[in-house]
Amino acid sequence: MNITNTNNLKRKYLLLLGIIFFIAFIVRVYYDIQHHEFMINTKMSRLHKNALLHYENIITSLEDKYVSVSAQFTNMHETYDLIKNRDRQKLYNYLLSDYKKLVEYNPNLYVMHFFDTKNTTILRMHKPTSYDDDLTVIRPIVSKANKSKTAYFGFETGKNGMTYRITAPFISRKNEHLGLLEFGIKPQYFADKLDNLLHVKSEILVKTSTIKNLSHKTDFENIGDFSVISKDPIYTEIINKIDLNKKEQIIQNKDKTYILFNDLCLRDHTGKTVGKVIIAKDITKAVLENRNSLLVLNIASFIILLICYVLLYIIFTRYSNDLINAHQNIHQLKKEVDTDALTGINNRSSLNSYLQNSVENENEYAVLFFDIDNFKNINDSYGHDVGDIILKEFTKVVTNSIRTDDFFARWGGEEFIIVLKISSLQKALKLTQKIRENINSNLFHSSIKVTCSFGVTMIDLPNDFDSVIKRADKLLYEAKNAGKNCIKAGS
Ligand code: GH3
Ligand code: MG
Ligand code: MG
Repeated sequence: MNITNTNNLKRKYLLLLGIIFFIAFIVRVYYDIQHHEFMINTKMSRLHKNALLHYENIITSLEDKYVSVSAQFTNMHETYDLIKNRDRQKLYNYLLSDYKKLVEYNPNLYVMHFFDTKNTTILRMHKPTSYDDDLTVIRPIVSKANKSKTAYFGFETGKNGMTYRITAPFISRKNEHLGLLEFGIKPQYFADKLDNLLHVKSEILVKTSTIKNLSHKTDFENIGDFSVISKDPIYTEIINKIDLNKKEQIIQNKDKTYILFNDLCLRDHTGKTVGKVIIAKDITKAVLENRNSLLVLNIASFIILLICYVLLYIIFTRYSNDLINAHQNIHQLKKEVDTDALTGINNRSSLNSYLQNSVENENEYAVLFFDIDNFKNINDSYGHDVGDIILKEFTKVVTNSIRTDDFFARWGGEEFIIVLKISSLQKALKLTQKIRENINSNLFHSSIKVTCSFGVTMIDLPNDFDSVIKRADKLLYEAKNAGKNCIKAGS
């Protein structure tokens, strides 16, 4: 592994790490978005449940309340004769203060209506000038309550208004059925109560088909089968976004978010749905808070991931730099181990690894073993230092005589070896000749002549390298014996 490889590897790992961190961040953001939606949906279903429960409670307690108010009136025996005699003026005067108190207590109470047993009006406290009308046909709840002598409840439209009716029998203390007492509460009552309890804005719709009996002219806005009888101003803004087929829905309007429920029903006395109370809750604040906390969380996780990445980057870079330094040191050491300190060429110990790793086929490599002639004399004549200078110069002359791919090493002292790729002993001999001549023609240390003796042989595997070198050494020995400054080649 070299520095470039290490750097590439480092870049690859850092990129991979960056991608992993990026994916982790995306997963986190995705999870948060999902969680945000989950939060809104959970809030929505909780609110929905709550709203339905409250709505049912509002209706039941309203019914209970006016049944008990009705019971208090039936206990007033002073009214019995007035009712029987249809003395409506006296009855009106007698009950007026109570009626006013009831209206004061509940401004949405509109109807307080006495009927005889034949469904004919005795007195309308809310409209005393209108009486003696038979309501058998247009007010089914009245005939039903008279017939069964029990209380009935439900939303029903009369001549004068659309109200939620509590229609109870008026029975004297002597158990005489005198007719009915009916209370009618405007649907706004539900809107007000729901707003009080849940802080919601309402729109009240009734089926257009059920309001045909109203005596006064109406000009209601229509939505499908329904007429809008009251609404909070926000409904004007979101009207086009409401889907009446959905029980619950989220509506985005400008920078506001609403949750809308559409299944709070207004039922008539038979349980049939004749109207709806649509409610909308502004959840903008909760959505924004949640969104902001998600933003803060995401920024925090981004910063944490970034810090982790930077830390890992620093650790990684330090580690890889250490690795590079170690490689460089090893490389340097290896070079030093393989290099001859004096001449800078390969040393004897590097020869083995060269032979093991680079020599592949037999008869393609030659070994040149050579020794400087009478070097002892040079040392003796010029000194050891000059001897060293000559040895260095000698290696330069030889290096310049061979190719860069050829392996040139100092065997020891003034003995050298060259392993080179060459196809025949003949060619090797020729090259050795050239080297020998180059040495002979060079003046070392400016004036000293140096000669060399050579043993040349081919590497002929499967003979081991040791025996090849021994053979070259033997040939060198022969060259020395033959008078030096010559070459002996053989196989
Ligand atoms: P021959 O022709 O038979 O090889 O004779 P020679 O004198 O070259 O051989 P011998 O083995 O008698 O002497 C070798 C000399 O080489 C002896 C030694 O001091 C010298 N020598 C070996 N290594 C170095 C070195 O690193 N520096 C110097 N200056 N001399 C060295
Ligand atoms: Mg020698
Ligand atoms: Mg020698």
